[in-house]
Parts: sequence; C-alpha cells; structure tokens
Amino acid sequence: MYSNPNIQHLTSNMIYIFCAPSGSGKSTMVKHLLHTYPNQFELSVSCTTRPPRGQEVHGKEYYFISVDEFQERIKNNEFIEYEQVYEGLYYGTLKEEITRIEKAGKQVLFDVDVKGGINLKRLLGERATSIFICPPSIDELRRRLIGRGDTSPEMIEKRIAKAAIEMEDMQHFDCIVTNDTLAHAFEQLDAIVKSNI
Ligand code: ADP
Repeated sequence: MYSNPNIQHLTSNMIYIFCAPSGSGKSTMVKHLLHTYPNQFELSVSCTTRPPRGQEVHGKEYYFISVDEFQERIKNNEFIEYEQVYEGLYYGTLKEEITRIEKAGKQVLFDVDVKGGINLKRLLGERATSIFICPPSIDELRRRLIGRGDTSPEMIEKRIAKAAIEMEDMQHFDCIVTNDTLAHAFEQLDAIVKSNI
C-alpha cells in the first residue's frame, strides 16, 4: 500500500477518517466515539482561509488563517494535504495536527468530505482506517435532512444529488457503516474500533 514517506514518522496509532454524504449521520457517529471513549480520540481541526461564521472559534471548528500564512505553510511543506477550492479559499490539514493529538496520547479522528477522505487515506496508507457512513436509502437521507431543520429545500435537493455521486466512491473505503438504526450503526463502529486495539 502506498504511504507518503514525508509523514511516515508521524504516527503509530490508528487514525480514523470519516466521510459521508451530508445528512448520513457522520457527526452523530463521530460524537458517539468521542463520548463512548473519552480520552481516546480527538477530532483533527483543519485550517481554512475563509472567515469564521457565527459562533465559530479559532482552534475549534477550524484554524482560521490568512491566505499569506496558508501559502507560507504550503511552501514550508507543513500540510499533509490541502485544497484550493477557488482563488484565495484554501482548506487543509497540518501535519502538526496529528502530532499534537498523538502527543496528548489520543487517536486522531478526521471528519472530512469524500474526496478529502480518499486523499488522506492514500497518503496515510495502513496507518488509517477510512470509514464511509452510508444512509439506508436516499428517501431516508431526505427525511433526516428535513428533520435536522437547518437546510433549505433547494439545498436538500442539491445534497441529495451530490449524495448519489458520493456513494459511487464508497468502494474506495476500508469500511462501510450503514446508518439504519443508531444502535446498529454504533455496534458496527464499535466493532471496527475494537478490531484495531
Ligand atoms: P452529517 O454529519 O452526516 O451531515 P448528522 O449526524 O447531522 O449527519 O445526521 C443528520 C440528521 O439525522 C440529524 O438530525 C441526526 O440526529 C439524524 N440521524 C442520524 N443518524 C440517525 C439514525 N440512525 N436514525 C435516525 N436519525 C438519525
């Protein structure tokens, strides 16, 4: 399996990469792990050049940094991976973030989009388990997005269309967890984590 020699020294613990179409239950699964295994996991915080929205806090949702700083850090080879969504809008993961979490004695969780997750898995190789959270059906996904109450009807339809495309990438993941009932999904997740201890 390919792994980037650049980051070989970074970790010996298993890293978990979570991806899912929006509304499939990715945040619910990540929160479950953080609550069920306190002190074992920590969520990796990404960097972005976009400004904070609402109550977002530097170091919690993202590290909010300037375009100049982001580009400087690219030059210094400080990112595991980064993406420029459009001119001046960058997102990325600092290598330092993995080291920070591991120094605290914890395992890293990544909550990223499908493309980012496939990319991270390619770079981290066997040190990471990539997990795709799959909705039981598109109809149920629509019901959950409506139920969450934070997405407009137009946006829900956009997300449903995107979900169908993202589900084509499911095959690139190490594990697929079908989030039908919460109890069943948590059971599958716990089995994955326990198999890596
Ligand atoms: P994501 O992070 O993938 O966008 P969320 O974790 O926010 O998805 O879940 C979307 C909505 O579906 C939330 O309102 C959540 O409470 C609900 N949900 C998640 N899993 C289940 C489930 N197994 N059964 C019913 N509702 C669920």
